[in-house]
Amino acid sequence: MAKVGINLVTGSIQQKDSIVGIDLGTTNSLVAIVRPDTRQPIALRETDGLALVPSIVHFDAYGNPLVGNAARDRLTDAPERTIYSAKRLMGKSYNDLSEHAAQFSYKIIDDNTDSLVKVQVDDRFFTPIELSSEILRELKHRAEHILKTPVSKAVITVPAYFNDAQRQATRDAGKLAGLDVLRIINEPTAASLAYGLGVKADEEKTIAVYDLGGGTFDVSILHITNGIFEVLSTHGDTYLGGDDMDRAIANHWRASDDEWRNTEDKSLLQRLRLAAEEAKKQLSTQDRFTTEINGREVVLDRSHFNKLIEPLVARTLDSCRQALRDAGLDIHSIDEVVMVGGSTRVPLVKERVQSFFGKKVHDELNPDEVVALGAAVQADILAGNNTDMLLLDVTPLSLGIETMGGLMDVLIPRNSKIPNKAGRQYTTQKDGQSGMRISVFQGERDLVQDNRKLAEFNLTGIPAMPAGLPKVEVSFLIDADGILKVSAKELRSGVEQTIEVKPQYGLTDQEVEKMLMDSLQHARTDIELRALVEATTEAQQMLDTTEKFLSKHKDFLEPAEIELTRSHMAKLQSAIESKDKDLIQKETERLNDVSRPYAERVMDAALKEAMKGKKIM
Ligand code: AMP
Repeated sequence: MAKVGINLVTGSIQQKDSIVGIDLGTTNSLVAIVRPDTRQPIALRETDGLALVPSIVHFDAYGNPLVGNAARDRLTDAPERTIYSAKRLMGKSYNDLSEHAAQFSYKIIDDNTDSLVKVQVDDRFFTPIELSSEILRELKHRAEHILKTPVSKAVITVPAYFNDAQRQATRDAGKLAGLDVLRIINEPTAASLAYGLGVKADEEKTIAVYDLGGGTFDVSILHITNGIFEVLSTHGDTYLGGDDMDRAIANHWRASDDEWRNTEDKSLLQRLRLAAEEAKKQLSTQDRFTTEINGREVVLDRSHFNKLIEPLVARTLDSCRQALRDAGLDIHSIDEVVMVGGSTRVPLVKERVQSFFGKKVHDELNPDEVVALGAAVQADILAGNNTDMLLLDVTPLSLGIETMGGLMDVLIPRNSKIPNKAGRQYTTQKDGQSGMRISVFQGERDLVQDNRKLAEFNLTGIPAMPAGLPKVEVSFLIDADGILKVSAKELRSGVEQTIEVKPQYGLTDQEVEKMLMDSLQHARTDIELRALVEATTEAQQMLDTTEKFLSKHKDFLEPAEIELTRSHMAKLQSAIESKDKDLIQKETERLNDVSRPYAERVMDAALKEAMKGKKIM
């Protein structure tokens, strides 16, 4: 099992190479490296001194992307074409987001299904992967501009609570941006590494990482032994942060002025919000803030500010308590506390966290940069530059199985440490389906036909059930010798099948390298193909469901309604044949819009029928 570095210019395998660390944040993103001369991690800065790149993408009328500060400037005048917080959409379906969908000023496709969300700008649809890749591409260009060398490899951070799909989406975004993503690491792990915690091979520690940003809060409890970080628990609130402090201040000022209290004047509200943020920042170092808004003086002093934000801080401590409970630990087991995120600059936050854990917290590094700095430290370790660090055996290529449409579904991503295990649930496509073929592949391409087949077997004897009902759990277990054991089990009936393979068998380093190079070269076409296959699968399911619906409920529908539905079905069918992903999505959307009211009517009728003769009270 080898660790492979490839030089994309010469194509040669090399162990030492500069790899960047990237913090792909909800609000801001940034890149860091370990300086070869000083061996210290630093955030990369443009000549303007700024390291943070707002995680915002604006699309102009021609569909050309603009990223960062330039995009942020368009938030007010072109909100529907300026996408912020794309990270919140990663790996999410509309159903996951519906509660918060109204908060986004751009259009999220609300087809009310379990499929992954897309953002619509004009006639184009963007997946969160594509949006994140625009940000990563900008970061890559910035790094290349600053370092004056090509940058092709990165370590990217994600929140500890990200699931497999969200991690895979982040990997794909990197790939699409032309980056070889050597590893995805947890943000709290990165923050600990930035402080040098866990870098020594024989270290054992329990760490709490408190991360309060602009719009999100989370706390993670980590345990490190021998260079291996384990997340014991994580807790938080994905809608709690510095923005809430700004809102509390602005509301306080509004409440103190009769005219402002009920104002709907957008520009006044915006001015209040901006002044509130300025006040908050100033109060981190001063006792009193004053400014003038619309000819009126507004004031806030530190003690009043503390009172306003006290409930918010209390909520974060509740999360800390919960995280400790989930980890089965008490406060005395925590050896170190690390502060992350711009809002931890607020003195009250620091004080409360300090007294909660009864410990001086780590706040020496810039809390906006600490995650990226840690990613750079991890990158440096992977590059083999840090000899103190224990090097782990890793899987050189991703391992996964074939799913609908010939797509590769990765269970163990490349560069995962071994031993390792992973599992995922699948289901059947057809009513009464009694068998399922499990094909195991290795490689980085999105379609299995471009990867290497390792093994295949049939899980048979699944009892007859409607499509979608059986639960087939596929598990991958890779042991310390690199032997992969794949098993599939139908959970309702217990039928099971297992196979063993040696993924590295007959594969040279040169072949591994070629597979990696191919995946980078074909990233765009691969991801486009995957998107097309997914859109087609979704469209096909929509057609099947509508067809079933029409034949079952034709008595509920007017002939004109049936005709309208049929005409949209035909349009969707020809869209599928055109292989135009955007058109397929648009027509799926339209068919859904047309048929949804009918489905609701049938539901209502069924409900009335069921209630007939029953007293409600
Ligand atoms: P992040 O998401 O980690 O970039 O954090 C950004 C949040 O930190 C925003 O809500 C900022 O208003 C807040 N922030 C930045 N600087 C300060 C400061 N000096 N004092 C208080 N909050 C700050």
